[in-house]
Order: sequence, then C-alpha cells, then structure tokens
Amino acid sequence: MILSLWGFSVSQKSGFRIVEASGSHYEMGFKLGERCKDLTKSMMEDMKIRVKAASLTWNRAVSNARKHLPFAEKFDPAYIEWIRGYAEGSGFRFEDLFVYFCQETDGGLCTNIVVNNEVTSDGSVLSAHTEDWYSIDEKHLVLVRGKPTGESAFLAMTLGGLEIICGLNSAGISVTPNSLYQTDVRVGVPKDFVYRKILASKTIGDAMCAALPEKRGSSYNYNLCDSNGEIYSLEGSATDFCALYGHEGYAVHTNHYLSPRMAKYEAAFEKANIKSPGAGIDSIIRYNRALRLLKRELGKVTVASLANILSDHVNYPNSICRHIDESAPLLEQEKTIFSIIIDVTHLKALICHGNPCVGKYKEYKL
Ligand SMILES: [Zn+2]
Repeated sequence: MILSLWGFSVSQKSGFRIVEASGSHYEMGFKLGERCKDLTKSMMEDMKIRVKAASLTWNRAVSNARKHLPFAEKFDPAYIEWIRGYAEGSGFRFEDLFVYFCQETDGGLCTNIVVNNEVTSDGSVLSAHTEDWYSIDEKHLVLVRGKPTGESAFLAMTLGGLEIICGLNSAGISVTPNSLYQTDVRVGVPKDFVYRKILASKTIGDAMCAALPEKRGSSYNYNLCDSNGEIYSLEGSATDFCALYGHEGYAVHTNHYLSPRMAKYEAAFEKANIKSPGAGIDSIIRYNRALRLLKRELGKVTVASLANILSDHVNYPNSICRHIDESAPLLEQEKTIFSIIIDVTHLKALICHGNPCVGKYKEYKL
C-alpha cells in the first residue's frame, strides 16, 4: 500500500471491538486501556508520524498539549481520571495520550441528519451520521458500553476506547459531531474532550452547556437531540456559537457554518486549497444533497431511508458515502470509516463499519 511509505499499517479487517466498562472513571479507563493497548500502540505510532509531518518534535507536541491541560482538568476532571486509568491499563504515559486530544488536524468531513417524531414514520427520534475520517483509523474503532457509577449508562463509538466520537446515553441524549474550521482557535479545552460530559448529561440543556466550555480551544458542530425530539445543531467556534434548532422536525449539517452569525469565523474554504478537491465545496454539495433527499421522505422517514441517504454517491468520491480520493495528499485521505443511526427513542444504535454502500448495519442496544 502507498500509505506504508509513511509507516502506516492498513488493515481492512472487518468489525470493531466492543468493550463493556463500569465503575469509577479511573476503573473504566483502566479496563479500556488494558483491552485496547494494541490499538493504542498503533494510534500513537500514527500520531507520531502526523506530528512529524507537521514539523514538530514529539516533545514539542507534548509541551503544546500541556498548555491545554489546566483547562481540561478544570472542565472535566472525570475524563482526566479516565485517561489516567487508561494510561495505567495500557502502559502508555498520560502526557503522550493527552497529545491525542490536542493535535488540531484538518480531518473530519462528516454528514449528519437528525429527525424527530414530526417527520418519522413511527414517531422515533433518529440521529444519523457518517464518520468521515482518516482511513487509517478504521481499524482503531471501539464501541464502548459504559456504566459509570452514579451516572447515565452510555453507548459510544471511540478511537481505541480513548477518544469518544459520538454516542447515546440512558437519559435519551445523543451527540454526533461534524468538523468546522474556524479562525479563532486558541489554547483551551480541546474540542474532542467534551463528549464524556455530554454523555453524562441528563437534559438537553446540560448537554449543550457541556458541548461549549467557556474556555474552549476550538469547536465542532455538535448535533444534539433528546428523546422528546428536541434537535439542535450547535455551531461553535472557540469564542462564539449559534444554536440552530430543528424547527421543522429535522436538521442537516456538514462542514461549513450555516448561521450568518458564525460566517465571520469560517475557514473551511481556506482548507479547500489544501484538501482535494475542496473540503468547503464538497461540504456544500453534501449538505444540499442530504437535505434534498431527506425532504422527499418527510413524514415517512425510517432507518432504511436514512441508511439510503448515507450511502449516496453524488460527487463521488467526496460524497456523503465518502471513498478515498487518491488525488488527496496521503496523510489527508479520508473515507467513511463507519456510519451510525442512533435511535434515541428506543436507546439503540445501528452501526455499519466502513462504507455504508457495501457494509451492513448491525443493531447495538445501550
Ligand atoms: Zn460508498
């Protein structure tokens, strides 16, 4: 494989690991670290290559990450405990693992569709997401069934049981993200550090506050919804945000700001110059395409109709179902590494590992 030039090992083995973890946050982290240390090794090797490609030494990356740590510790000490447990369980140093949360990358070209009881055929609230990310991470996916002491149980897709990508909790709160590219990035709470707290939320308001730490370093768009059918696309930047509401019973989001208020922070179209053939442009195409396909289904939306939209190939390979674009720089090659349809009403998720056009969705209960 071409990627081996960069030292990446690519495995197309199907399926992802499922790990159940309960107890204190430290105990959960320890178990996840112990069960996933082979994946951690591979993830850290990839991160070291990525750091090197950014013309940084590893020591410099650790020292940069250390600047974010006081903000993270203050915001969510429980996740810090999780990472400390994970370090013990996996045999990796905490400070090396923390780099994983702090390295700003250009990755993430996901598509999200959230629908509620006003537009679904059976009244369910459903949140659909393609995880379009570096293809090398397809082999690092781990589904975590978490039962933290004194908190809501959760189901979360993660990288190596360390970094949470999206999920659902027993209080009926779901979160799926999509990358936004913003001009006001600063040192603060890393954007990948907010998910544990979102998944500990009991209300949509708690989840929204958890997604937007006051001293955040940068932000995703967080698609949040609850079992009542409240739908928000929370478009954040480091210093500002706009909460877009699903007034008509649905929301669609890709990788550019939709709110006029947030336009001044937009950097997606600068990224278009370094990504092929343009993160900003294909984000617009995916947004309009997903919205158009969804509108045909309003009033009768099902899991199957969402799965069909997630498999769409308009503007292939930079489509909703994304395939590797060989013309992109090697380190930037992305694809749909999994897609998920979270049934917030029935507390379960349908997950397809790899591209949804070729894979099958399997059901996972909370
Ligand atoms: Zn496809």
